[in-house]
Amino acid sequence: MKIICIGRNYTEHIHELANERPTDPVVFMKPDSAILLKNFPFVIPTFSDDIHYEVEVLVKINKLGKHIETQFAHKYYNEIGLGIDFTARDIQAKCKEKGLPWEKAKAFDGSAVIGEFYPKSSFQDVNNIDFLMSKNGTIVQKGNSGEMLWKIDELISYVSQFFTLKIGDIIFTGTPAGVGKVSTGDELIGMINGKEAFKIGVK
Ligand code: ZN
Repeated sequence: MKIICIGRNYTEHIHELANERPTDPVVFMKPDSAILLKNFPFVIPTFSDDIHYEVEVLVKINKLGKHIETQFAHKYYNEIGLGIDFTARDIQAKCKEKGLPWEKAKAFDGSAVIGEFYPKSSFQDVNNIDFLMSKNGTIVQKGNSGEMLWKIDELISYVSQFFTLKIGDIIFTGTPAGVGKVSTGDELIGMINGKEAFKIGVK
């Protein structure tokens, strides 16, 4: 399986990192080795002094597809979840500066937290899903899928122009404002639709 991630999909997050508003979705990938194993803590890697959390709505693909039209995209997923796109912000800044690829900053081991998935039918409207993440009991990020610049179905259509989507692939749909640094001892809890989708310790 592969993990396809979308960057800069929420206006306020674009502003907080002083990025340009993209004309097309920003797309990058994580390999399956990036997945943080269930019930394991996130271990801060030695190569970075500035690991940020980014809470994101996840979409799990359940049907093989390529060149999917937006109007049919809803047929290609039936589960939605929540996860974290851990990012080595210091390394990413260097990559951006030099115009280099982001993999070292975004695709390292443990950088993909994949929480619980819930049936699409348990959400009234996929374009109106509330989610949040707390760090040590304080809410740090709060979003609604309706605030995405490109909605879930549009993202599926867009990325499927480039990559064949396979059963089990996961799309990280981008993060709202409020990203920040993690430190040893932190506890991150993600909630979607009022349910706890993940609880991660940081070591
Ligand atoms: Zn992200």
